[in-house]
Amino acid sequence: MKKYEFDTIILGGGPAGLSAGIYLARSNAKTAIIETSMIGGQPSNYLEIENYPGFSSIGGYELMEKFEEHLDKFGVEKFEMQEIKSVDLTSNPKVIETLDGIFEAKTIIVACGAHCKKLGIKGEKEFLGKGVSYCAICDGAFYQDKTVAVVGGGNSALEEAVYLTKFAKKVYVIHRRDSFRADKIVQERAFDNEKIEFVLNSSPVEISGADTVENIRVRDVKSNDIRDIKVDGVFAYIGYSPNIECLACQLVQDENGFIVTDETMQTSIQGVFAAGDVRRTPLRQVVTAASDGAISAVYAGKYLESLQKLVGV
Ligand code: NAP
Repeated sequence: MKKYEFDTIILGGGPAGLSAGIYLARSNAKTAIIETSMIGGQPSNYLEIENYPGFSSIGGYELMEKFEEHLDKFGVEKFEMQEIKSVDLTSNPKVIETLDGIFEAKTIIVACGAHCKKLGIKGEKEFLGKGVSYCAICDGAFYQDKTVAVVGGGNSALEEAVYLTKFAKKVYVIHRRDSFRADKIVQERAFDNEKIEFVLNSSPVEISGADTVENIRVRDVKSNDIRDIKVDGVFAYIGYSPNIECLACQLVQDENGFIVTDETMQTSIQGVFAAGDVRRTPLRQVVTAASDGAISAVYAGKYLESLQKLVGV
């Protein structure tokens, strides 16, 4: 099995990981990024980003391409692979076992991001790919002149609901409250869209159909009344859970599974840092992920220096 040795390995190539890579490479640390999905991470799926400073409007994919191009100038090695078999964060060096080889590093930055939370209702799994989706960009075009439901009340749900009106003749937004987390500007766009109908104070309880989705059943959380809504597709946007399966979990997490760090992004294990959506943070945005990445890189660098001093003693 091939063996690779680095000063720092960054797990994840989203905005936090790419930013950390840029900072570490500029400090001459021998750095690698391991990504098991897509370089760019979640924001690559965002239609438009309007709050990343310097760009009043830019596609998520385009912005992440710019991050990657920037990183590529500094010679950070990128490994894209399907799977990480195991990670030992407690050993020195830390060891990452993959199908492509064994990776060793003095420090690790965990920047694995997060994945869409599931609704956890009857029919969701059964109709995945047959009307149930978590990606309007990927699947929206299948719903030309059809009716779809979007579940959630955050930026993702309302932005994607507006996007889906390009194809669908009607979009129901099903939200469990009567106010929204989404930014005001995003809310206004959805409220102004005549194809969108809001189903508020309602939780989905079941998705059903014959071969493909035909119905979503919702419960009014105040009256407990049940309502069946005829739809051809259901798009769920109810937030994210951290991607930490491969860590099995050697790090202290909060009640929702996100990794707990201090302000230097240091986790509960010395020399292991976490950055971006994977960690407990009050704001999950590209700009905060990039900022986390920079902080984690600087403190990973300081950790590397402290190791060198120890060796020198
Ligand atoms: P979010 O802000 O966490 O919103 C999740 C929504 O789903 C909330 O309205 C929540 O309701 C609802 N929800 C949660 N669990 C539910 C359940 N079990 N059943 C029904 N509804 C449920 O998630 P998000 O919209 O995916 O956004 C995540 C982060 O990414 C945010 O920081 C957001 O600003 C950012 N983002 C940015 C952009 C952009 O800049 N273009 C685009 C998308 C997302 P409650 O409100 O009642 O809790």
